[in-house]
Amino acid sequence: MTDLTATPQRPWLDATLPVDERVDLLMAQMTLAEKVGQTHQVANIDPSADAETIRAGRISSSLYASGATGGNERDDGVLVGNIDAAQRHAVEGSRLGIPILFGRDVIHGHRTVAPIPLGLAASFDTDIAEQVGEIAAREAAVDGVAWTFTPMVDISEEPRWGRVAESLGETPVLSGRLAASIVRGFQGPHPSDADRIAACAKHFAGYGLAAGGRDYDTVSVGENTLRNLHLRPFKAAVEAGVHTVMAAFNDVDGTPMHAHEHLIREVLKGEWGFDGVVVADWNGIGQIVFQGVAADNREAAALAIHAGIDLDMVSGSYLAHLEELVESGEVDVALVDDAVRRVLRLKFRLGLFERPYAARPGAVNAPTPETRAVALRAAQAAHVLVKNDGVLPLDPSAGSVLLSGPFVDEGEALLGTWTLDGRGEDVVSPASALRERLGDRLDVSDGRFSDRTLQQARRTERTVLLLGEHPSRSGEANSVTDIRLPHGQLDVLRAVAGLGKPVVAVVYTGRPLDLSEVLDLADAVVVVWHPGVEAGNALASVLFGDAEPRGRLPMTFPLTTGHIPTSTHQRPTGRLIRADVDLDEGRYLDALTYARLPFGFGLSYTSVDYSPPTVSTPTITPDGTVTLTVTVTNSGERPCREVVQLYFRDPVAQVTRPLVELTDWALVALEPGQAREVTFDVQAEQFAYAGRDLTARVDEGEIVLLTGPDSARLQPVSITVRTHS
Ligand code: BGC
Repeated sequence: MTDLTATPQRPWLDATLPVDERVDLLMAQMTLAEKVGQTHQVANIDPSADAETIRAGRISSSLYASGATGGNERDDGVLVGNIDAAQRHAVEGSRLGIPILFGRDVIHGHRTVAPIPLGLAASFDTDIAEQVGEIAAREAAVDGVAWTFTPMVDISEEPRWGRVAESLGETPVLSGRLAASIVRGFQGPHPSDADRIAACAKHFAGYGLAAGGRDYDTVSVGENTLRNLHLRPFKAAVEAGVHTVMAAFNDVDGTPMHAHEHLIREVLKGEWGFDGVVVADWNGIGQIVFQGVAADNREAAALAIHAGIDLDMVSGSYLAHLEELVESGEVDVALVDDAVRRVLRLKFRLGLFERPYAARPGAVNAPTPETRAVALRAAQAAHVLVKNDGVLPLDPSAGSVLLSGPFVDEGEALLGTWTLDGRGEDVVSPASALRERLGDRLDVSDGRFSDRTLQQARRTERTVLLLGEHPSRSGEANSVTDIRLPHGQLDVLRAVAGLGKPVVAVVYTGRPLDLSEVLDLADAVVVVWHPGVEAGNALASVLFGDAEPRGRLPMTFPLTTGHIPTSTHQRPTGRLIRADVDLDEGRYLDALTYARLPFGFGLSYTSVDYSPPTVSTPTITPDGTVTLTVTVTNSGERPCREVVQLYFRDPVAQVTRPLVELTDWALVALEPGQAREVTFDVQAEQFAYAGRDLTARVDEGEIVLLTGPDSARLQPVSITVRTHS
């Protein structure tokens, strides 16, 4: 057993000392080579091949490694079960015994996979997001993982961009609040607890603006838009205590983010006071060379350390060049010290010096009934009903159902993008869940569409068609030029709908799709994203009405691909827009420009009426509060959970401001016939924005508050912000 108690030689092991003091004590002993070692992250650490480098104190962190013990090579050549073996070299074999930090992408669940982040965002449910994070952390910790690279808070109006699947939607407040919850879930109140791991807000910044929706592409954006939109969820994550932030692959207006001193060192670390680690993205430092802004990795390393990148993910540029850059005077050692201080601070905060080894004999991380219950609730809450002509909920005792489409018997495909540890065999497939309810009244087509499907549809009374995208069509490096359904799926829908019997379309997707024809042809349409291990159970419960559909769209669904970008936070132009009806609006000659499905949209199995909103006072001071009240009434015959949404508009500001911006919401349970008064305490600082000089301001004057069930069905009430109320 290693002795991890403090000694006069190793005073930093005294866990009763404040973290920053421990960091100082340790750094005082470090050589420049050891300091540089703390800025270097490798992929797939190999305890044999890397032993010497680890013992020299030249590896700070590893990504992808998984499994505490065992040391096996998998079929695909990946080494698993090596964490403790590698850690032993660091803790017991290196001069200072600094433990390695093991990171891995645990994005929306580890073994118990929940819906993709865009689906989680559809729940508008911060409690669920936190629980999903907590379970993922607990399961990942069993595999020796101490750090995950989630949440992704890139704001995007770009459904062509595959990575919207990993995002928390298009609005800063929804994305920021959910990110804060996910951070809390992973890190907990004490990140040194054995069941908690560090989170990472990524990708800083502007990545969602990649030109043409092409992954990794260039970004042209001004700082005002960055501050009023794209930086906000990062700030929310930092305020929630996220321990790390990852830099983005893209440039911003010509400066690669891995070299962006202003945004990283000045804004993130300086202005916001972020004291955690800024990690590069995969070879992001090396890519500065490909971006044509550095001649070689040496120059790239100098740019990145100046910019404030603390940990080099796999490029090796810091390890190869930082020492010499310091010795030649091109890089001030204070920059290296800043990076090392942050990395060590994180290791101390995570308790790695006290608990470097991961092995927990007997601990299992396979899904349990408890974790599955959370995954089920998350998946149910992610289901967004976007059309219902009355065919849903299905009556389980009436008639036969054909279940058809490429996802019928799927497991792994329903987990979604970025699931390194999810297993297809843990997934409840749609066919098995529906069969449980319907027995032999369920007919299942073979999972692929064929003529036989039509024959089967003729024989059954209703068809549930599972349409949409395989997860390999969204996520990283999976952009598309056309957001219609994959080839052939509409033909099947047309044929089945042509039979004149009820058709329910279920859409699996990692992005907003052009659903125009699906909405025209099907009697009911449910968007379910990629729902995770409880996919089938969630679907069956919503289709049969055991669970009420309650999800709301976290991104706008445009009319067609040609309408991209579209979003709720569009800013006004000099020409007034009558988006709903006016063909003379001067925008496109060949189409209107309203959204096909607006942000925040989603139906229940009942109807909910909204009263006009009222306010407690017509005027407030810039630091004041107003209470807004709206009465919502369930006017139908089933219970529901309504997402009561609050937006605002600032009609006159220093810069153009969104036509409407989501600022708050409430989840409200309503029994049939029940009416409830919903109140929002609105603070004037919610209307703050970056003005022309980029500083935050709250203006005097009118603010329009708007409430309703989605961003397109809103009722206004005006208030005035005044210095003297
Ligand atoms: C992605 C990151 C991810 C990293 C490590 C990169 O390609 O952009 O989001 O965390 O790889 O897997």
